[in-house]
Amino acid sequence: MAIKKIGILTSGGDSPGMNACVVSVARIANHYGMPLVGIKRGYNGLIEMNDHDIETFTESELLDIADLPGTYLRTARCKPFYDPEVRKQAAKNLNDNDFEALIVIGGDGSFNGAMLLADLGIPCVCIPGTIDNDLGYTEKTLGYDTAVNVSTNAVRSIRATSRSHDRPHIVQVMGRRSGDIALKTAMATGAELLIVPEREWSIEDTAERFINLIKRGNNRATLIIGEHCWHQMKPFDWISVLRENGIAVHDDEEMDVDKLAKVLKYLCKAEIRATTVGYTQRGATPSSSDCSFAFATAEEAVNLIRSGRSNVAIGQKHGSVYNLPIEDALNIRHKFNHASFELINKL
Ligand code: ADP
Repeated sequence: MAIKKIGILTSGGDSPGMNACVVSVARIANHYGMPLVGIKRGYNGLIEMNDHDIETFTESELLDIADLPGTYLRTARCKPFYDPEVRKQAAKNLNDNDFEALIVIGGDGSFNGAMLLADLGIPCVCIPGTIDNDLGYTEKTLGYDTAVNVSTNAVRSIRATSRSHDRPHIVQVMGRRSGDIALKTAMATGAELLIVPEREWSIEDTAERFINLIKRGNNRATLIIGEHCWHQMKPFDWISVLRENGIAVHDDEEMDVDKLAKVLKYLCKAEIRATTVGYTQRGATPSSSDCSFAFATAEEAVNLIRSGRSNVAIGQKHGSVYNLPIEDALNIRHKFNHASFELINKL
């Protein structure tokens, strides 16, 4: 088997498990005598490929970063990469520097970039790295499990103080346009209310649900809300509710989770509070599930490159790692579990 020099980069939003994946690829590639070179800051590192864009890992460095959260290679969005001329330069740099394949760890945007690079003759292999779990072709993405664990632990802590004070609480979690983190967190914690970007919702219905729960004796219910749900909120004059209760609001102010808590507080006559879990989900130490998935995808990636296969995305289906052309992977839409969503809001 000919020795192949491989490049690897992390792109888009970081996710727990990216380092574990890079380290696993490095260890496995090294086992087969294939040199691995890290490219820094996503696609930015391909554009000029100066020394500071390149990371050649020593064993000691790999040992140091194996358990680290974040991504040691750094990640970034790279606007110039949308320009075909820039991508041609990137492909030329990879060819001039004898790279025989490129592994891209990222989300659907990064996969699109890899597919276009593959069109220029660069063999690419994509590994799903995103906490959002918004890639339809795969049951798992690096970081999703960790992100759900972080938000689950956050809700458990919040519920302890909710219990102490008999106070309902709203917890905002990440996930961009996908409600999976919110749904899984609600399922894991027994949250009574759930709002996700996939579904329209209303402040009145939410208030009614809180009021009914309080009447039932549950005065410490938890509402989990995804971060990008505001476009799905039905029109409601919440500004008047705040003003009637002495809170100054500009006419053009946008709704957010703190204001939602205040509006619901007045509508439900309950001390409802809000917490945003935020970036702690992205920067957490990866779970064993994410790290073992990192190893499995790394193994698949190196094996594919060794056997001359490329321009594929790696994922998990029916519990096993598999691969398919990047384009096919991107064409499979992510399915949200509407049945569980509806049940949670009724229990
Ligand atoms: P993610 O990979 O997490 O979905 P983005 O959507 O921000 O994150 O994409 C990451 C990067 O991938 C972009 O900054 C850009 O460099 C590259 N990229 C995304 N879409 C395209 C595209 N259509 N053409 C070329 N490059 C793209």
